[in-house]
Amino acid sequence: MSDVLVIGASAAGLATAEALRRRGFGGTVRLVGAEPHPPYDRPPLSKQVLLGDWEADRTVLRPPGALADLGIETTLGRRAVSLDTARREVALDDGTSLPYGDLVLATGLTPRRIGAFAEQAGVHTVRTLEDTGRLRAELAGARRLSVIGGGVLGCEIAASARRLGLDVTVIDPAPVPMADRVGPEIGAMLAELHRDHGIVLMSGAEAEAPVVSGGRIAGVRTSKGTVEADVVVVAVGSTPATEWLEGSGLTLDDGVVCDARCRAARHVYAVGDVARWWHEEQGRYVRLENRSNATEQALAVAGNILGADRPYLPVPYFWTDQHGVRMQVLGRPAEADRIRMVERTPDPRKFVAVAEAGERPVGVVGWNSARGLRRARALLTDGSRPH
Ligand SMILES: Cc1cc2nc3c(=O)[nH]c(=O)nc-3n(C[C@H](O)[C@H](O)[C@H](O)COP(=O)(O)OP(=O)(O)OC[C@H]3O[C@@H](n4cnc5c(N)ncnc54)[C@H](O)[C@@H]3O)c2cc1C
Repeated sequence: MSDVLVIGASAAGLATAEALRRRGFGGTVRLVGAEPHPPYDRPPLSKQVLLGDWEADRTVLRPPGALADLGIETTLGRRAVSLDTARREVALDDGTSLPYGDLVLATGLTPRRIGAFAEQAGVHTVRTLEDTGRLRAELAGARRLSVIGGGVLGCEIAASARRLGLDVTVIDPAPVPMADRVGPEIGAMLAELHRDHGIVLMSGAEAEAPVVSGGRIAGVRTSKGTVEADVVVVAVGSTPATEWLEGSGLTLDDGVVCDARCRAARHVYAVGDVARWWHEEQGRYVRLENRSNATEQALAVAGNILGADRPYLPVPYFWTDQHGVRMQVLGRPAEADRIRMVERTPDPRKFVAVAEAGERPVGVVGWNSARGLRRARALLTDGSRPH
């Protein structure tokens, strides 16, 4: 019996287990993860690891023994297959069952696939270390990469592959990259950045079917014509890893649906990319897919397990690195109707912009400007309360 059982041994699960200990929790804590690796960081997978600048080991989040030193038991390479909330038990894929006092669901996401592309040799998705290893190996012998999807991940992979010397095309139905995250104006700047670095943006195009030759991918047929490719990456978003919770009685709807305290049911919490919780100030359910949320929400969940009884009210934040530009995004700039530059420098590739809906700031974007972003953050928090 674990007093707290955490399913999912990555950023959010790890942070929850550690936060419990840091706050003095003395009960038993067990972290269970489907991957064979100790918890590792995903952001470098599409950047430093794909580029070959980092060995895979460098992504590991804690040195060996650190979790054991905190009295956190780990079970790796084991997948949870079902949950019985009445008996308070999780069944694993080896036939064993783990009883719990409180349960934390931290199972993250699974990349979305496109049916016709799914089983083709030379087609990749990127979520794990193994995915990145396979992609990197194939890029080494390739000349042309097509990336289906111009979101954050697609853009990062495109930028990394370009630096590795490939001819890269990004195929996306939207007019500019990452518009759903940063809005059309910043998206247009990003498009220019990619074009300046020699990436072909096939915007407004739908990927329709793979072109296959000799049992391998040879290109992508799109609504705007065919692109030749030796390797294809499908980066069209991900779905919350909740299949194993079907029939558990939890509400599953684009994630594990939780109340304002990230509680999905009595003694069950969700955290990180998989959690969709009621944001009390926005008056709607929110699910965030970013690294800082994994840590911040973990602190909130650990606090609530220990009786803090506080709603989770973060200011969303993510960063992305593309072609030497670090873009940092606070709030929800895509919901703005205009962008106002608040800090400009002589270097056009260094600025801070505030995204406003009417008169109200809803987001801040920093472009190679970490300090400026920190200054502008106050616009979103109105002193202490996040919008
Ligand atoms: C390539 C890449 C680059 C990224 N870059 C950035 C970035 O630059 N900036 C940023 O803010 N964010 C970035 N992110 C997003 C960030 O990494 C995620 O938000 C973060 O990893 C979420 O952590 P998590 O613990 O909620 O989920 P995950 O990291 O997905 O971990 C979930 C874990 O649960 C395990 N699991 C799933 N189902 C089960 C089961 N049934 N039983 C047991 N274990 C299970 C999975 O195997 C996985 O190990 C990136 C993500 C990727 C993939």
